[in-house]
Amino acid sequence: MRLVLLGPPGSGKGTQAAVLAEELGIPAISTGEIVRAQIAAATEAGRQAEVYSSAGELVPDELTVAMLATRLAEADCRGGYLLDGFPRTLGQAERLHDHLAAAGLSLDGVLELVVDEDEVVRRLGARRVQVDGAWVTRDDDRPDTVLRRMQVYRELTAPLSDFYAAAGLLRRVDAHGEVAEVTARLRAALPPAAAPGGSGG
Ligand code: AMP
Repeated sequence: MRLVLLGPPGSGKGTQAAVLAEELGIPAISTGEIVRAQIAAATEAGRQAEVYSSAGELVPDELTVAMLATRLAEADCRGGYLLDGFPRTLGQAERLHDHLAAAGLSLDGVLELVVDEDEVVRRLGARRVQVDGAWVTRDDDRPDTVLRRMQVYRELTAPLSDFYAAAGLLRRVDAHGEVAEVTARLRAALPPAAAPGGSGG
């Protein structure tokens, strides 16, 4: 089962992806986490990606696709995965389609978390992450960078909603409210074979 979770920064994608993937028994794969891990490990890819990511810009498609392809080739992805934060451009969506089609596969569904922009700016302003035991603000959660990330989302990523709707794959889900409420809405929006207890595959 191959799923994409779409939504602006601060829509709760990471949290929801982890919960849903666990329920479905597939890995949640976050390109943001892959990028941060490469930066932390000071790899060549990490050094290239950091220039963009610290400014709230997207990492170029070539680099992002290469990092993701490496992850998708790992054994735990054979039975499917839930992508969090990828694709983020039409070019990436096309690359993903081609990558799957080459193996005779396709996406099973795309779930979009829909949330007001005021709400995501508020959530990101309040977000803290744990680094080496201390709670800190992520570099790209600083106010100026958040505004840039939202602008990038509107311009480059939001068009994916119509793209996947036209492909008949999209389900939109209201992302306001408690985490558990949103998870329940997502669960109800899963394609039938992906629903927990469904036939799977
Ligand atoms: P995230 O944790 O998903 O908000 O991602 C953090 C940062 O990593 C983004 O602001 C981008 O700089 C980079 N990034 C993550 N996923 C992608 C992607 N699919 N394409 C380009 N850049 C990405």
